[in-house]
Amino acid sequence: MGYEWCFYMDKEWSERNKKMQRLISAESTFADGIKCLIELREIVFTQISEIINGIPEKAFSELVNERTLAFLIWHTFRIEDIVIHNLILNDEQEFFKARWQKKNQSKIITTANELNGNEFVEFSKPLNIKELYNYAVAVKNSTNEMLKKIEYKDLKRTFSEEDKRRIEETGSVSHSDEAYWLIDFWCKKNVAGLIKMPLSRHWIMHVEEMRRIKNKLCKQARAGVNPVAYCGFSCNHCFLSEWCGSCRTEYNCCSFATCSPDRKCANVVCCKSKGLEGCYECSEIEFCKLGFYVEGNDGAAAAKAQALFMAKHGRKDFLKMQDLFHQKYQFAKTQEILGQDVHKGLEILEKIWEERKK
Ligand code: SF4
Ligand code: SF4
Repeated sequence: MGYEWCFYMDKEWSERNKKMQRLISAESTFADGIKCLIELREIVFTQISEIINGIPEKAFSELVNERTLAFLIWHTFRIEDIVIHNLILNDEQEFFKARWQKKNQSKIITTANELNGNEFVEFSKPLNIKELYNYAVAVKNSTNEMLKKIEYKDLKRTFSEEDKRRIEETGSVSHSDEAYWLIDFWCKKNVAGLIKMPLSRHWIMHVEEMRRIKNKLCKQARAGVNPVAYCGFSCNHCFLSEWCGSCRTEYNCCSFATCSPDRKCANVVCCKSKGLEGCYECSEIEFCKLGFYVEGNDGAAAAKAQALFMAKHGRKDFLKMQDLFHQKYQFAKTQEILGQDVHKGLEILEKIWEERKK
């Protein structure tokens, strides 16, 4: 498999990537370029952390778009590890130094380019996903340390037959046609070329791919599930609707839940303990300050206003009102329109509902 399996890059990442390339190409701006690269890597890596935190382990071995999430993480960081340690630094890969194969419970040590179809699933299933993530963190950090020490003059350094042989000896690249080309591909580049591909663009391509897979899994998880969140938001109308699989499924990527203890939103826990479908069924809602309704949370009043509307009109009419609400206003977060006062927010919703009769 070659690099043609790619895709679109997130616009902001792409702009940062172009800026980094421009900055590192001149000695006077090189240090800023490296700073820009490290920042870009941290931003992109956050997406991996969010995916790891947001969805269940079994999701990492699901075959979606002919890939698995586990493969994409593995492949991205095995390649970086090889390129940094065998080529640029000429020392031992993080993978071998810290015995990551045992921790990851992986059957292979290669970049996994040689795998196809169901082999991705078979490779991914036994992996310890938390350790795979820890490996990715270790590789990222070790590369960032190298980047902090690199000098402008190092960028032109090229690689030799001896460098190629060193990679081959590690057994980190399969001899199959789908993988072996990688050694030549890397060794034809200089250090600048490696920075521009495995250390930056390669990440962007694969993390974009991970995001698409994760979003697809979340969409599948939400199919047929009550589209109203426990706190009162409509998942179908939420600005995170593509990203989040709903607080009613194990694909809950709501940012509030992912920051909560055990990733469990207090409203969900409380509703379940009371046997309620949502806070909109609770008699204590008006004065409740639990979970998403905590004082200081800027979405609390908007969520409550919606829950109160639903308590009065029911879920079906609430969802119809949401369609009208979104037709009438342009906004990302509901609180941008409903504000910070529950009753004023509720008045806005009631007004929209009344206007449909005119
Ligand atoms: S963030 Fe909340 S409202 Fe939005 S999709 Fe997730 S559970 Fe639903
Ligand atoms: S007490 Fe609060 S969090 Fe619990 S169900 Fe009632 S409104 Fe929701």
